[in-house]
This record gives sequence, C-alpha cells and structure tokens, in this order.
Amino acid sequence: MPELPEVETTRLGIAPHVEGREIVEAIVRQPRLRVPVPDDLIERLVGSRIGTLSRRAKYLLLPLEGEGAGSLIWHLGMSGSLRIARLGELPKKHDHVDLVFDGGAILRYHDPRRFGFVDWLAGSQESDPRLVNLGPEPLSEAFDGERLYRLSRGRRMAVKPFLMDNAVVVGVGNIYASEALFLAGIDPRRAAGRISRERYERLAAAVREVLAAAITQGGTTLRDFVSGTGEPGYFKQRLNVYGRHGQGCRRCNGELRLVTLGQRASVFCPACQK
Ligand SMILES: [Zn+2]
Repeated sequence: MPELPEVETTRLGIAPHVEGREIVEAIVRQPRLRVPVPDDLIERLVGSRIGTLSRRAKYLLLPLEGEGAGSLIWHLGMSGSLRIARLGELPKKHDHVDLVFDGGAILRYHDPRRFGFVDWLAGSQESDPRLVNLGPEPLSEAFDGERLYRLSRGRRMAVKPFLMDNAVVVGVGNIYASEALFLAGIDPRRAAGRISRERYERLAAAVREVLAAAITQGGTTLRDFVSGTGEPGYFKQRLNVYGRHGQGCRRCNGELRLVTLGQRASVFCPACQK
C-alpha cells in the first residue's frame, strides 16, 4: 500500500513533467473508482494548466492555474500508482485515467483494486471535509514530542494505534509506526497516556527519521516514473521489525514478536522495546 513516502516520491517524480503544462486530452477508461470520476473531469481539465503540486497526508493535490479553476485531489488507495508514460505507449490493464500534456507526457493512473480516486477538491484545502480534520504533517514543525505528550494524557489506548491516528499526526502507517517505535525503544502495547514527555520526544524524532529516510530512498527510484516497467514509487527498504516476526532482532538477536493492536499486525522486540 502506498504510504506517505511513496506519495511524496510520486509528487517529486511527476512534478517536473506536469507542472506548468497544458492538458490537451483526458481519457477515463474506468470511472468507477472508490469515488466515481467526476462527470465534468474531462471538460474542465482539457485546455487547463497544472500549477504547483502539493501533498497533504496521502492526498496529492494538483491545482489548475487561474483563479477559481479548482484543484484535483488524488488518492492512491491500496494499490494505485501514478507515472509518466510517453505518447504512443499503450495502456495496460488497470490503467484507468490518462492526462495527456502538451509536449507528449502522459500522467497515467494505474489501480488494480480501485480503492484510489481522483476528484475535485471541495473548495479549499482548509474547507475540504477530507482534509479539514487532519493532524499536522510529520515532517513539519507542528509535529513534535510535546504534541504527542499533550494529546496522549489520559488515553489508555496503546501507543501504536495512537500514533497511527490521523488526528494526532498524518501519514504514519503501520510500517512507519512499527519502525519508529522500535527506534525509540517503546513497546507498541504500552498505554499512550503512560509514556513520558522525554520518550515522546524520542518517538517524534524516530518518526521523522524513518519517513525522511524512506523519502530519500524513494528519490533514488525516481527514474521509474518514466520507465514502462515496475511499480513506480514503491520501494523496498531495510526494515528492522515490520514483516519480520519470528526473525532475529537486528539489535539484540532476540526473536521478534507479533501482536495485534487496533486490528493491525504489530511486530516488536520484547527485549529492546519497553
Ligand atoms: Zn531486540
């Protein structure tokens, strides 16, 4: 599943090919995505230019240039990907939407499970119901250990689902929550309200570290955005705990354990995480 680093890598990968470019054609092969593709998508896009891309949580925002022209909000769902195809490159199965730009680049959306969507942003970023209640970006200054400490007081829920709550901080999915808790030495089962401010400072630093490392690593795969093969933006990383239950801890060589927290599989080292 694309997580925040993959979405950010996608933004960085496609931006140079689409920003400031005019859309000369839009093709919708399959309108039945998680949200149906808007009926007026083609009409409003053709002849418009794309402004500066941005990202909020796992949403990509593609503004159209010109006052009141609106913005597309794109979510990759469980299996979606956006990449740059070249004119004449035939669509494959599950290539549902193409935006064709002057100059010949095609922004092509691929999504076998169709849990992603493209839609118009409802008004502004500040008013769209999908964005309005989101917590801060994990790589922004608004996210820190103090925030985690303050919001967790009195909370009995385990720290891992707390950290994955989008109202607390956005974009910390299962992989990065698991990895950050390992780096910070915190047991994912520990009650969120019983963790000290100092340990939350370490956890916030670990969240930033794992996400920044993943984005940096994703940057090395950027050429995949313009090749015809592979899954653009999805990259294998060296993970310490996620997906490694039953294997040895990289720090102490003890066996990593699997527990379920908030309906999500959670792997941790009982010796290194307290
Ligand atoms: Zn260990």
